[in-house]
Amino acid sequence: MKRRVVLLGPPGAGKGTQAARLATRLGVQHVSTGDLFRWHISQDTSWGKKAREYLERGLLVPDEITVAMVAEKLKEDGFVLDGFPRNLAQARALEDILASHGKELDAALLLEVPEETVVERLSGRRVCARCGRNYHLKFQPPAGERCSCGGEVYQREDDREEVVRRRLRVYREETAPLVGFYESRGKLWRVDGVGDPEEVSARIWAVLSLDPL
Ligand code: AMP
Repeated sequence: MKRRVVLLGPPGAGKGTQAARLATRLGVQHVSTGDLFRWHISQDTSWGKKAREYLERGLLVPDEITVAMVAEKLKEDGFVLDGFPRNLAQARALEDILASHGKELDAALLLEVPEETVVERLSGRRVCARCGRNYHLKFQPPAGERCSCGGEVYQREDDREEVVRRRLRVYREETAPLVGFYESRGKLWRVDGVGDPEEVSARIWAVLSLDPL
């Protein structure tokens, strides 16, 4: 069974939701670099201090910080990586980290979603400050102003439309080349990311030869 998986795709493709489900299904850790950075920022750690400005502006945090943070997590084997790697240098660093443990990546899944869908998903997205649950103003609004856990629901600074456009540009320029990188290694699988989350999960189970739920 595949136990070392990367999820690729533009911001708003649904990587977070699908990575969490897949990790549960495979019994491995879900490693989201975006969530890790947001945690470090909320705790005001030294990595958080360095990363804050990049997140607010929708730019990539420098590789040395990001790779060090991920390497720490990958000491434990088995993972679904979400939001990493995001450029070729990070993809090579991931290979090196895994090789140093005598392992290699099993699969890179590309969640394909058209750009306009992504802008609509992200600009309407709201997140619970307490439990991290995602809502959408149009498709899945929170009941009242609050999350079901009681936490406050807010808009991520980088989900504002102009920042979303910049994140998409960064994706096209820096992350999209990873598709060719994993294709040339015979590790790339494409998954249609349009549709409700259950449908998309079912496509992922099929690609990974997991039984349907
Ligand atoms: P995400 O939640 O995956 O959309 O990530 C939010 C932000 O965190 C990005 O816009 C970047 O500023 C930063 N970030 C997340 N993952 C990475 C990465 N692999 N490399 C550099 N920056 C990252």
